[in-house]
Amino acid sequence: MVAVCATFFLPHRSLEPLSAAASQAGGAPSNGLEVLEVRPSFFVSAGAGANVGVQVGDDGVVVVDAGSAASAPAVLAAIKRLSSKPIRYVIDTGPDADHVGGNEALSKAGEKLFGGGAPNAADSVAPILAAEGVLRHMAKSPAGGWPTEVFHYSRKYMYLNGEAIEVLHQPSAHTDSDVLAFFRRSDVVVAGDVLDTRQFPVIDVERGGSIQGEIAALNRLVDLAVPSIPVVTREAGTIVVPGHGHLCDQYDVVEYRDMVTIIRDRVRDLIKSGRSLTEVQAAQPAKGYMGRYGNQGGAWTTDRFIEAIYRSLAREKA
Ligand SMILES: [Zn+2]
Repeated sequence: MVAVCATFFLPHRSLEPLSAAASQAGGAPSNGLEVLEVRPSFFVSAGAGANVGVQVGDDGVVVVDAGSAASAPAVLAAIKRLSSKPIRYVIDTGPDADHVGGNEALSKAGEKLFGGGAPNAADSVAPILAAEGVLRHMAKSPAGGWPTEVFHYSRKYMYLNGEAIEVLHQPSAHTDSDVLAFFRRSDVVVAGDVLDTRQFPVIDVERGGSIQGEIAALNRLVDLAVPSIPVVTREAGTIVVPGHGHLCDQYDVVEYRDMVTIIRDRVRDLIKSGRSLTEVQAAQPAKGYMGRYGNQGGAWTTDRFIEAIYRSLAREKA
């Protein structure tokens, strides 16, 4: 059964985290996954490593982010309950394992939409679409999960299930190969790791990410999303699906963008006054936001976030 989430449609201040909202709505988690119907033909699944977007319709199923490898059987089972049609596309929003780990399993379970000509092996699987850099970053992982359709320009588009789908490359945000997947009729944007409501955004400088590109990507999200005005209602307005965390509307993205921008400006001012990285970190430029977004331990600490900003700005200056 698909959990239609009632608590999602609340003023955004009381918007619950996705998984909490789903269980409050009485949705029975299936194989540890919770599935929300956010629009008539668009679903979001939480609990598979990253949030997974699923568009369904007459043409088949389009999946945005496959989730982790370990979650692939559960994701496939959840998709089967939403549609009897095959998976036609897997779109990767970025190169991280929790987004691309399930690529191979989902692609193999799918089928290319218009094979054209004599059927061959490539038509018996769903194409995996990603920005070019994803392929490079996945070089050390098994070839079966590699993207099969990569692009290096700013916008890739298609028209499936009665709506335009725009895949918008963000050249240097979380990494150098992030995309936003915009479903125009459903009015849903799947943002990937550019937006992570659990914590400060992960900026992977080694793989081409930067604070400036991150802010540019958040600005793009703000531009794409339209809030529900003048009639403020939770049913209307663009839905932004973060890579991790709860569903957002435009106001949430504005708030997150402002937070990131303020911290960037503070770090920049500290650099201008000649502080070293250690001194910048000691000055706590993320003050006021650490309680909500900061991590003291784990993979993405506040110190690492500050270091990524520092390194991005130093690189810009050089
Ligand atoms: Zn992620």
